[in-house]
Amino acid sequence: MRIVKSVSEFRTLRHSLRNSTLGFVPTMGALHEGHLSLMRQAKSQCDIVVSSLFVNPTQFGPNEDFDRYPRTFESDVNKMIQSQCVDILLAPETSDMYSKDFCTRVVLDENCFLKHQPEAQQRPGFFNGVATVVTKLFNIVSPTDAFFGQKDAVQCIVVRKIVRDLNMEPTVHIVPTVREEDGLAMSSRNRYLSPQDRTIAPVLYQVLSKAEQHYLSCKSRGETTKCEDLVAMVKDQLASNRHCQQGDYTLEYVSLCCAHTGQILDHSRDSPPSDGAILSAVIKIGGVRLLDNVVLQA
Ligand code: AMP
Repeated sequence: MRIVKSVSEFRTLRHSLRNSTLGFVPTMGALHEGHLSLMRQAKSQCDIVVSSLFVNPTQFGPNEDFDRYPRTFESDVNKMIQSQCVDILLAPETSDMYSKDFCTRVVLDENCFLKHQPEAQQRPGFFNGVATVVTKLFNIVSPTDAFFGQKDAVQCIVVRKIVRDLNMEPTVHIVPTVREEDGLAMSSRNRYLSPQDRTIAPVLYQVLSKAEQHYLSCKSRGETTKCEDLVAMVKDQLASNRHCQQGDYTLEYVSLCCAHTGQILDHSRDSPPSDGAILSAVIKIGGVRLLDNVVLQA
């Protein structure tokens, strides 16, 4: 695996690879099996795989954990080498990505689908930071294919949207969420859970999957499921969970949106749309923010 730390060096290398399909997996490091599954998927579909490791300052809010975000470069490099899936690691310096006089950003319209997305409301500026860095990385890497995790469902919709709106080249592939054995979605931030909180954390996926099962069993009987019932199910089960009641726990939101447009669904709707919906929730346990979702397939 070749490690490239400068944008101009990467560009020179990229020119020599112009006849290959190039799969790109952007990451912020602190790699786990979720990241590695994206890399494996990229390897299975493309001639060359490039992954990036860059903790992007523009997607962190002033009260978020940019300084505290785990930076584990050596172990990330070893994991990538062991996976045998990554040909080139791009690990640019912040100063190479954002010069002192940097002033050009990719900003989604104020009135786009994000306006009503709780994930965007909870993290002002986050998706514009993501849109900006993804655009910059796509400009540097020129991938034919790019791979993102379903775990960050709204991020996937934003990436698809900017690719379409700005006529970018890569085909975007969404890879299923990789979970721990007890169902907790893998995340670089899980390491901040105390042992006690780690035992509570799987509750998030448990309640989301129960709602999904309810949706599927209604569907198999030819019955509709009210959107508000699905949202209420998740809220009620979290509220009545014994561990959540005891621990340092808060519910940030539960939401249901269209899987393609990201539009929040009117909860009084009779049923999620026939082309798929995403049921998401965010909880905080001991100050650690846990985000997860299930896709309600048509
Ligand atoms: P991050 O390093 O957190 O920015 O994530 C880099 C990529 O890995 C993003 O496309 C994430 O959606 C994806 N990812 C993070 N966690 C998981 C997971 N548990 N399963 C699948 N993909 C994931």
